[in-house]
Amino acid sequence: MHEQSLVQALLDLIEEYAGRYGAKKICRVRLSCGRVSGIEPACLRFAFAVQSQGTVADGAHLELDLLPVRIYCFACEQEIQDEAYHAVCPRCRGSAVVLVGGTEELKLIDMDAE
Ligand SMILES: [Zn+2]
Repeated sequence: MHEQSLVQALLDLIEEYAGRYGAKKICRVRLSCGRVSGIEPACLRFAFAVQSQGTVADGAHLELDLLPVRIYCFACEQEIQDEAYHAVCPRCRGSAVVLVGGTEELKLIDMDAE
């Protein structure tokens, strides 16, 4: 499962930060990823809940910001936000579009320690 390795990398990063700043417990972790990054929020939450057990982030509240899908339409000559990527422009229904946002990988934004 894709999410498991992402969460493992995330926990390694959290442990490293916690160690560096002498934090005993992380109570909140804020992440962001693109809506069409292939990351399943429910899977991510589940993996985090399981894999964080016994780490400094055990029981931490996970906040996930889903970055919107952004497409550029060559017919409308502008960038448009959409809920999902359907390879058509939501405005003119044309197919001369490219995906320019929403594919961002998982990123650690910030976290709160106790
Ligand atoms: Zn268009």
